[in-house]
Amino acid sequence: MMKDKVVIITGGAKGIGRGTAEVILEKGGRVVVADLERTDDMPKGVEFMECDVTSSASVDAMVRETARRFGRLDGLFANAGIGTYKDFLEMDDAFWRETLAVNLDGVFYCCRAAAREMKKRGGGAIVATSSVRALATTAVVAHYTSSKAGVLGLVTALANDLAPHGIRVNAVLPGAIETPMLWDAARLFTDNDMEKLKTTFLPMVPMKRIGQPREIGEAVAFLLSDAASYITGAHLPVDGGMLCQLC
Ligand code: NDP
Repeated sequence: MMKDKVVIITGGAKGIGRGTAEVILEKGGRVVVADLERTDDMPKGVEFMECDVTSSASVDAMVRETARRFGRLDGLFANAGIGTYKDFLEMDDAFWRETLAVNLDGVFYCCRAAAREMKKRGGGAIVATSSVRALATTAVVAHYTSSKAGVLGLVTALANDLAPHGIRVNAVLPGAIETPMLWDAARLFTDNDMEKLKTTFLPMVPMKRIGQPREIGEAVAFLLSDAASYITGAHLPVDGGMLCQLC
């Protein structure tokens, strides 16, 4: 399904991006991890490229180098993101801008650079990471929720713009997934106690468990593959049913 496809994964050194890199490698794909810095336990076989998605120059250079090294680009998983918390009334301009710069501007820069490259070669597929919080959320995350709703808008628009070039564009909406970002939340809200944090999330999840990065990876691999050849503009929750529940 992914045999020999060349896929860029932003934020692929950790968490959901890392889990997705593993899944795509196992399915026969070739993976470029584009992240701020490499980690010691990168999956075997990935190609690492340093990239800051808030800089269009950095993104353009990374995509150009991928195309030069591999001779093609089939897929992009625009996934790099940051998650922070702040009372809305305390939020200054810089705090708002930082989140929008990574979570929305970054996705825009990556989609634009990848689509230009894919167009030259007759098409490709893009998946962007939104969040369940784009559709239903809580207090203290107005900046994050806005950035993730923006990703859904961008994906809807690009499904129209890029279909004529043979490029499909879809979004995944993860629920609560066990990654370093969730550990950051545990540090802030439950004194580093992940089990306690999980118990605050679990009542919101019909499947009564936290998700694993590879479970997002399987959905992303499907959407990037030819098996999803008639799917574009989709917003796919991967959330254990979180968005189906009213309380
Ligand atoms: P992690 O923090 O575990 O991993 C995110 C990766 O992105 C890190 O390697 C981080 O690097 C990198 N990154 C951050 N800023 C940049 C940047 N400017 N340029 C390039 N890379 C960058 O997060 P998750 O895996 O949990 O999250 C991945 C995506 O999924 C995010 O978009 C997040 O918003 C979304 N998401 C996550 C959920 C969850 O429950 N975990 C739920 C819903 C959505 P570094 O650590 O060095 O800063």
